[in-house]
Amino acid sequence: MSFRTLGLDANILKAVQEAGYTEPTPIQAAAIPQIIAGHDLIGIAQTGTGKTAAFVLPILAKLAGMKREANQRGIRALVVAPTRELVVQIEENVRAYSKHLPLKVATVFGGVGEHPQIQALRSGVDMVIATPGRLLDLMDRRHGDFSGINFLVLDEADRMLDMGFLPSIRQIVKALPRKRQTLLFSATLSREIEGLTHEFQHAPKTVQI
Ligand code: AMP
Repeated sequence: MSFRTLGLDANILKAVQEAGYTEPTPIQAAAIPQIIAGHDLIGIAQTGTGKTAAFVLPILAKLAGMKREANQRGIRALVVAPTRELVVQIEENVRAYSKHLPLKVATVFGGVGEHPQIQALRSGVDMVIATPGRLLDLMDRRHGDFSGINFLVLDEADRMLDMGFLPSIRQIVKALPRKRQTLLFSATLSREIEGLTHEFQHAPKTVQI
């Protein structure tokens, strides 16, 4: 199996090669074509399986290939993750894989000053990676334009539920366009996670490794 058969574009394949990856991991091989095809996706995978690239690569490919619609401003992809550490790790992945693309990324998380984050949201970014608490706080105060979101990722959704983030996530999702592609990743598929998928996704495909 090669990355070439997954539907990614040349600039992304180049970055993947420069990262030293020779072939997709099982979650990548299964998830990337489904995401490129436009499906909502439930990914059941642990950390260490390559799950980050499984959602970042196809989202970058779609963002790079999509023209902004005439009335579409602001942020196009939003990744919500439980901790600052995970947000920073996802950001590093996004920067590495998008290094040959003209896309801008920003992070939002608590425990640090909010002004640089507000400035970054104002400066026009394509993708935001955020923890739920600070994100909701900034959205409530109308920072960032989330009206043109095409992609929402809920990463480590089981941990976000355990940490009590469900009410914040509900509020965040309520402020996003209904017409969007929603990807949910979790280490386990519990009844609570199934509840989330019913609430936030449309006809999702499930990929379990
Ligand atoms: P993750 O599960 O997203 O935390 O990724 C675990 C590690 O695997 C990270 O250090 C990635 O850089 C690495 N990785 C992701 N995809 C591949 C791949 N296709 N080949 C080799 N390493 C990879």
